[in-house]
Amino acid sequence: MIEAAAPRLQQHPDAIEIDGTGKWVFPGLVDMHVHLREPGGEDSETVETGLKAAIAGGITTVGVMPNTVPPMDTPESVAYLNKSAARCGLADVVPVPCVTIGRSGREPVNFFELHEAGASAFSDDGDPVYNSGLLLEALDTVYEFDGVIIEHPEVKELAGGYVNSGSVSGKLGVKGIPDVAETADVARCMEIASNSRGHLHLTHLSLPRSIELAREECFNSANVTVDVTPHHIALNENALLEHGTLAKMNPPLRSFEQMSRLGEMVKEGMVDAIASDHAPHSAHRKNGSISEAAFGITGLETLLPVTLEVLTGLQMPVISILNLLTCGPARVLGIPAPGLTPGMKADCVLFDPEIEYRLSEKGSFSRSANTPFHDRILKGRVEAVWKGRLIYRDGEFVT
Ligand SMILES: [Zn+2]
Repeated sequence: MIEAAAPRLQQHPDAIEIDGTGKWVFPGLVDMHVHLREPGGEDSETVETGLKAAIAGGITTVGVMPNTVPPMDTPESVAYLNKSAARCGLADVVPVPCVTIGRSGREPVNFFELHEAGASAFSDDGDPVYNSGLLLEALDTVYEFDGVIIEHPEVKELAGGYVNSGSVSGKLGVKGIPDVAETADVARCMEIASNSRGHLHLTHLSLPRSIELAREECFNSANVTVDVTPHHIALNENALLEHGTLAKMNPPLRSFEQMSRLGEMVKEGMVDAIASDHAPHSAHRKNGSISEAAFGITGLETLLPVTLEVLTGLQMPVISILNLLTCGPARVLGIPAPGLTPGMKADCVLFDPEIEYRLSEKGSFSRSANTPFHDRILKGRVEAVWKGRLIYRDGEFVT
């Protein structure tokens, strides 16, 4: 428990004293968009390796996406995730089961049954909810228990490429993904959300135009929240020329101008959360050509340093940045806001904001290494994490 927060605390006979001079203490981060791959993709990640990577990144609550094999669409599959996570005793998980059975887009899941099992957020992530009638019905249904539908905004028929449509797709000689593949779905979703009281969350928005649409005055009545990823504000399509398939993800990295404007919009308070979209892939799925390799990058251990680098660079106050990684996503998911108030369960992080290192040298707890940030100098590292007790310190898990 957090007993007190003060410049000087009373000595306790059993206390371990940790010198935090020059360091930060903040509540455990909430990453609302993570792929743990278990069951079905254990060669890329498991619940245990994913949650270890989360803790090493200062993330103590993880929103887990349902595109496993089989997809998470029943109370049993939600219970499986909860049980696996509880066995690890690391980060908390917030299961995000499917909107449609098998993520097939055809039939809705039983929302109430899944809510009974502990789920309040639902997503067909990897795919949008194609069927607009079903999306409206889903929003109306989850409104009954204050739930949320998380939409992966993409019109597949307009996408069909491998990287952002532009100069880099031309240089690489591969088919591009145009902006409209994302923005057309955002526009559709905004119209639908305006016709429901239900909460819609648009995840991994990669374009300034998408955020503009979501914040259009004419949609003021809609209950809509949005997140962006660190990589869409830190990298642009040129990263593909340097990092190849390690910079291939969906939505794709955009132009330099779009990346810069997106970061400004985050600073201006136009987004509710920053989420990693941690998408681990074993090496063989990332080998091969740009068109063959899987979409996605890992992100749990780089979420905080990359976000801090970009947004402090834009002069955004640290406290506002941390809000996008704690209270912001907690509000979207409908879970209690993290905090450091005396009486709360200890769920907090000790962070050294000055230390510089390369991820490739530090090593990673994720089972996969598909990140374009592997050789970047990262600034700031998690030194210790408490989750009810001290569970992580100086790069090692405390047993
Ligand atoms: Zn997605």
